[in-house]
Amino acid sequence: MSATTNNQHGAADILRAILNAIQDRLIPITRDSFAKGGDPFGGAILDGANLEAVAVSVNASEECPVYHGELNCIRHFYTLPPEDRPEPKACIFFATHEPCALCLSAFAWTGFPIIYHLFTYEETDELLGMSDDIEIVREIFRVRAPSDTDDSLTARPLYNKENKFFSVRSIDGLVQQVSDEKEREEFKRRFWEVRATYDEFRPRRV
Ligand SMILES: [Zn+2]
Repeated sequence: MSATTNNQHGAADILRAILNAIQDRLIPITRDSFAKGGDPFGGAILDGANLEAVAVSVNASEECPVYHGELNCIRHFYTLPPEDRPEPKACIFFATHEPCALCLSAFAWTGFPIIYHLFTYEETDELLGMSDDIEIVREIFRVRAPSDTDDSLTARPLYNKENKFFSVRSIDGLVQQVSDEKEREEFKRRFWEVRATYDEFRPRRV
């Protein structure tokens, strides 16, 4: 499977669609969910043909611990009538936070070829005090080779961001790909504005 599916749209178009989906659809439901004690993790699925958001969800881990934002979004996506539901391989997935091992596996099982995120694992740990993503990958999947030292083990990437199933990328990379300088500066401003909005969703336990 090619990770370059959906390349009929330029970086600016994809970025605009993602930022609009976050600001217009995701942040309002995140605000409601957070007010009721939910976590701020969310997902959006864009139809790769027209870049419209066909499913937007936040996590529902109070309902079930594995209803992460991405999985909940996939769940809602599959409640759409088949005639209104594009093929996953023709979609662009957005996750607010770099997907955990559970959600990465879900992308492989469902066939979404490209996943963009706003915050990295390290930022999720630093900003929200949640190191679960990193700890789960390290504890379950990181197997020490006979030749490994503690340093080489620590230096090894946690997973393959480019693999036969999908590509995982930061939307920051999309900003850098916008060729027009004025447009790129405007996207940078929106990128940081959206990130700053998530400051209001810091867990109360931190
Ligand atoms: Zn997850």
